[in-house]
Amino acid sequence: MSLVAISSDRREQALRHEDRCCLCEHRCLANRSAGERGPCKAGIEARVFRHRVECGEEAELIPSHLFYLSGCDLRCAFCIAEANAFDPRRGTLLTAEFFQRAVAWGQTQGARNIQWVGGEPTIHLPAILEVMSSVNELPPVVWKSDFYGTPEVFELLEGVVSVYVPDFKFGNDECAQRIAGVERYWEVVTRNLQLAAEQADVIVRHLLLPGHWDCCFVPITRWLRERMPTVKFSIRDGYLPMWQASQHEDLARLLEPGVGDKAREWATRLGLRVIH
Ligand code: SF4
Repeated sequence: MSLVAISSDRREQALRHEDRCCLCEHRCLANRSAGERGPCKAGIEARVFRHRVECGEEAELIPSHLFYLSGCDLRCAFCIAEANAFDPRRGTLLTAEFFQRAVAWGQTQGARNIQWVGGEPTIHLPAILEVMSSVNELPPVVWKSDFYGTPEVFELLEGVVSVYVPDFKFGNDECAQRIAGVERYWEVVTRNLQLAAEQADVIVRHLLLPGHWDCCFVPITRWLRERMPTVKFSIRDGYLPMWQASQHEDLARLLEPGVGDKAREWATRLGLRVIH
């Protein structure tokens, strides 16, 4: 079960972002309830473009019931969700009734938890808290995120999330700006990693990108060794050059064979807690 009941105060606090949104570090202050749209293009409705029980993740999470929400605050050129990630109008409206039925179904399939993924769940936090508060016996909550949210988001999630799964994508701001279109990436994500670790279990994920060993993978591992040496670290090597990856010379190819094993060996030698 989730750790705390989601109070009406907390939900009201989240709903204030619909009038002046500061959920992610774009901090665009869009009045989403009045029809304004920020870089994420999201309104006040959240939509689920897929939900299913999956067994392809880290062993301690599976079977996990994933809810994929459309819409995102990043624009990663290699996004595998492509149009679903970037168009928040796609999918089934996330209502309390839909969610209650889906959670009940997931339980019949043996799901150990529910997992919010995207796109990016952070941009839909008010709707997510609303529907989760409607379920009496909420399973443990896993929050898989790009970690570009604001500290306000982590205050709202404190005690609700059992496991954070941050996608630590880039090891510097230049790559983040060029590939995902965001500023201050490194400062924001490293701050949020530390906020999350104060609250709940954390599994840091990193998807290896072709040609980004020195600029992204190595700085991430060094930072983890220095600042979060005991955190669980999951290295993913299933990169596919999707969406607009072909427009970037470095991203328009597959990983070199064996780079996943090489990365795990590197991280293990550094003393990191590599998990599968
Ligand atoms: S979540 Fe969307 S509307 Fe809110 S600050 Fe970020 S980009 Fe702007």
